[in-house]
Amino acid sequence: MRPVLVLVPIDGPHQQPAPPVRHMGLSYPSLPPGYQNTSASPMQAQTQPYSLCSLYSPLYCPMFPPQLSAGPAQLSPSLAGLSLQSQTPETLRVVNLLQERNLLPPGPITPPTPCLPQDLQKINCHPEVFRSTLTNIPQTQSLLNKAKLPLGLLLHPFKDLSQLPVVTSSTIVRCRSCRTYINPFVTFLDQRRWKCNLCYRVNDVPEEFMYNPVTRSYGEPHKRPEVQNATIEFIAPSEYMLRPPQPAVYLFVLDVSHNAVETGYLDVVCQSLLENINALPGDSRTKIGFISFDSTIHFYNLQEGLAQPQMLIVSDIEGERPESAYKLCHLNNSLSRTDLLKSLPQMFGKTMETQSALGPALQAAFKLLSPTGGRMSVFQTQLPKLGVGALKSREDPNQRASAKEIPNLSPATDFYKKLALDCSGQQVAVDLFLLSSQYCDLASLACISRYSAGSVYYYPSYQQQHNPAGVECFQKDLKRYLTRKIGLEAVMRIRCTKGLSIHTFHGNFFVRSTDLLSLPNVNPDAGFAVQMSIEENLVDMQSVSFQAALLYTSSKGERRIRVHTMCLPVVNSLSDIFAGADVQAITGLLASMAVDRSVTSSLSDARDAMTNASIDSLTSYRTSVLTIQQPGLLAPACLRLFPLYILALLKQKAFRTGTSTRLDDRVFAMCQLKYQPLAYVMLMIHPALYRVDDLTDEGALNISERAIPQPRVQQLSVEKLSREGAFLMDAGSVIYLWIGRNCNPDFLTQVLGVPDYAAVPQNMNLLPELDTAESQRTRAFVGWLREQRPFFPILHVIRDESPLKASFMQNMIEDRTESALSYYEFLLHVQQQVSK
Ligand SMILES: [Zn+2]
Repeated sequence: MRPVLVLVPIDGPHQQPAPPVRHMGLSYPSLPPGYQNTSASPMQAQTQPYSLCSLYSPLYCPMFPPQLSAGPAQLSPSLAGLSLQSQTPETLRVVNLLQERNLLPPGPITPPTPCLPQDLQKINCHPEVFRSTLTNIPQTQSLLNKAKLPLGLLLHPFKDLSQLPVVTSSTIVRCRSCRTYINPFVTFLDQRRWKCNLCYRVNDVPEEFMYNPVTRSYGEPHKRPEVQNATIEFIAPSEYMLRPPQPAVYLFVLDVSHNAVETGYLDVVCQSLLENINALPGDSRTKIGFISFDSTIHFYNLQEGLAQPQMLIVSDIEGERPESAYKLCHLNNSLSRTDLLKSLPQMFGKTMETQSALGPALQAAFKLLSPTGGRMSVFQTQLPKLGVGALKSREDPNQRASAKEIPNLSPATDFYKKLALDCSGQQVAVDLFLLSSQYCDLASLACISRYSAGSVYYYPSYQQQHNPAGVECFQKDLKRYLTRKIGLEAVMRIRCTKGLSIHTFHGNFFVRSTDLLSLPNVNPDAGFAVQMSIEENLVDMQSVSFQAALLYTSSKGERRIRVHTMCLPVVNSLSDIFAGADVQAITGLLASMAVDRSVTSSLSDARDAMTNASIDSLTSYRTSVLTIQQPGLLAPACLRLFPLYILALLKQKAFRTGTSTRLDDRVFAMCQLKYQPLAYVMLMIHPALYRVDDLTDEGALNISERAIPQPRVQQLSVEKLSREGAFLMDAGSVIYLWIGRNCNPDFLTQVLGVPDYAAVPQNMNLLPELDTAESQRTRAFVGWLREQRPFFPILHVIRDESPLKASFMQNMIEDRTESALSYYEFLLHVQQQVSK
């Protein structure tokens, strides 16, 4: 088969990429016009301007022979010793944190740009997909140790992309030695040979690769899409399949106990399934099934030819179940499925059954999915107390606020982890939706998703009648969940240049072998992080590369490989390491490491470790980088937000002390820190605060003919609030709109539709659609914030008297509370330690 290249626009999160055009014969198909735009695709266009290069050394770039796409290995070794010290880049500007109080930039914080030659940096992997805590990689481990900064990678490998180059080819070109996929950072020695950028083996260029389907010419292997795109997807030939690709199989496991029925969640799930069932990713082989449970387990036979669905109740939850229970139906056999979804909420409407046999229900569901693999979606509303996996309450609410040490962060039983590993072995992932206002022992239950590469969703005060905003949030999340892309029977391997080694992984998966993550399902909203060390000195290297390859089966039954490659320069001085520090990536990785530490050691240990991370790195900077000593707490500009982010972590739900925090809320925050992509993790850690009563179109973004106001980001301090104003706080999964007591009356009438402050309702979660410019601006801004993430943040309009005011105020990170330092006090503490 001839190589075919298609560029697939993916304009909605739910849309599947169209199957690539496969052409046989001698002529090549013409390319869709979109391909010409690849370099200007939204993803590429966001690449930061190449500003650091000139600061490092203007000599850097012209060293590259323009005729071939040269790899970094061709850099002259004499450049290796280049250092920043002659010219100080902006990232190394010395900042006295005690003096410069407002350090927040007005808009989003951009990661540092790796100092690579412009032609390489232009095609480097986008930081939203792949980034490193240090964009300048230290030459040796001892140099890294001196910097006291963590080295690791953060990935969002299956992110929905607006454009993605997809290649169909009978040969996927890989290094014969280390199996690295050919990428933009390899070196062509000549037209027939390429040198691997990870292990340096010289490989032959296969004949097929000599033809370039883009330029339609022979003899330009360096212009192939594989060496022009750091993110690319291959459609795999048959040798990448051990068995026929798995069909998409969806099994819904529903709690129908009295407690569950009371919440009213079943109506939403059934209604959402009825509405979105045709948008579930899949093909003609796709199957669907249902199990419900209380103290017994209920199976449903939806086979074709039945007049109506049959229900089979198994009351002996520990015993053998009849084989006839294990039937799934084809998705396109819709009749009995629709009947079931319409009648399910009523079937249990009057139930008095209070018990929950979750463990036995999960075992039954596992058996049902074992032959095919697939996705299990579990809806649970209480602490399971019956059968295997039964749990007891481990939380003492009276001790929540006073306890310095938080017990019971680790699972009470290994039942859920063991079952998750069985699921992983059979290519089954388990997603858990927990809807409960009472303690459910999420620390134990979450293991079922963590080790099977599933996700956890948590709606702590879900109630259909009393919490309409919670219902809306659940509905929106569910729609996204049902219709988003899914990758089945996936594995991900991360390779890096010889000398570097990956040792600790964060996220939801099972580590099958040293560097292979088993992902029975992969979803576009999952993030991962890894820690790295430097095993061998990288002395003769100008740059190193990292490659993440995600092999998965699409819902249409294609085996695909998505490959991301990132190249970073190697440096040999501490100041260069500091110059490339990515403070958000560092914070995100530290948060994951601190979650692990809280579980394996203790929360106070984790808190100390985070504080020490900021103290140690600033000490190293002070003693080893700064040549002129000055008073104050000094940080390089790129790390100026580090102490603030560390303080924010200490006050984050996951790690805070001295405040009443429900154990499940804390554990859920820990889960989110571990598996959410960095962009959403940062909003959880350090929310964005904006003043919104005076929004204007000045500097607004223009998206699809809508003007999106871009107010300035404010410091998280009560000092910044004004009684005359209205302030919006974006904390990721929740958005607060705080209304000052003397708020501008125009805002109240024109945006909230109320005559005065007293008329602002107690539970307001919706901005009315008023025909005023102010209303349109505010709604456009909130809508735009919501569109930036795959989950639906709830909006709370709050006044001084609102019960939620406390949650809003807890995010005022810079302020002092009874149990936690203010930002200034924290800086003084860090300074004291640094000066020791
Ligand atoms: Zn290699």
